[in-house]
Amino acid sequence: MTEPLLRAIDVSKDFAFSRSLLDVVRSKPAKAVHALNGVSLDVKRGETLGIVGESGCGKSTLARCLVRLHECDGGRVVFNGTDISKLSGADRRAFNARVQMIFQDPYSSLNPRMTVRQILSEALRVHKMRPADQIDARVAELLDLVRLPQDAADRHPHAFSGGQRQRIGIARALAVEPEVLVADELVSALDVSVQAQVVNLLLELQDRLSLTVVFVAHDLRLVRHISHRVAVMYLGKVVEVAPTEALFSNPRHPYTQALLAAAPEVDPTRRTRRVAAKGELPSPIDLPTGCLFHTRCPHAFDRCQSDVPPLTSRGPGHIAACHLLQPEPLT
Ligand code: SF4
Repeated sequence: MTEPLLRAIDVSKDFAFSRSLLDVVRSKPAKAVHALNGVSLDVKRGETLGIVGESGCGKSTLARCLVRLHECDGGRVVFNGTDISKLSGADRRAFNARVQMIFQDPYSSLNPRMTVRQILSEALRVHKMRPADQIDARVAELLDLVRLPQDAADRHPHAFSGGQRQRIGIARALAVEPEVLVADELVSALDVSVQAQVVNLLLELQDRLSLTVVFVAHDLRLVRHISHRVAVMYLGKVVEVAPTEALFSNPRHPYTQALLAAAPEVDPTRRTRRVAAKGELPSPIDLPTGCLFHTRCPHAFDRCQSDVPPLTSRGPGHIAACHLLQPEPLT
């Protein structure tokens, strides 16, 4: 479990910000939302990598760049040694099958006029996964894999609960036998009890099928439960990456510390109203200079406003980007 299978290398992504008529008349320059600002991240073969951060930190944009639903503006995404922006034709289709995305709202991506059998059969046929006479058997296997009853095959998506629809979405992703699943807020729209069932199913499938999983979520408890390693993002940048228990027991970056301090306690008697960090998240249109976190960091000093802190080692497999921390020797 050491080889990087999927890599983001200095990835940046901007989205054009629409100007008001007044801005156009005044010839004000077009602005852009800087969603990703030089993200570098390795996803190792066979691991589950959690990606966390406040809403608006760019984690969903990164997920979409990893599966090439967005093209990067700068940097590159490399899968199995190949820059995915260079893939076309059959190679692009093969990549699309090997790296699958599962969305927060499977209902919007499931054709309401098709039965589950038709949805799964279509994926099998388009990617030529099975000869025609084996498709029904494979549909039955896929339903078993995601713990749906066999009679689910002939029902339409609206006949299922949110958790069951998420299972259909997972079955469709698995139909093309991917190596990587990128799950973007997979369970955030579900009830807590259903969340646990779907997350445990994903854990089981990851182990059984040797999948590599990128699990994007804002719920730190779920991320801790499912991930081998966790990456923390702030304003379109990775600020800390560590093995899960190292990150939760010894967070090194001030933003990670604030994020964990603000996470709700499991014990309701210990719950308090806490925020991830003081102040507002700066606008991704006008990013702060230097360390992006300096406008909210309780430890900020002069250098933080001018110099971008690099990601450096904080222990085995643990990196963080903060001027306060002295690098530790690589182990
Ligand atoms: Fe805070 Fe400065 Fe460290 Fe950024 S570099 S996290 S502002 S102390």
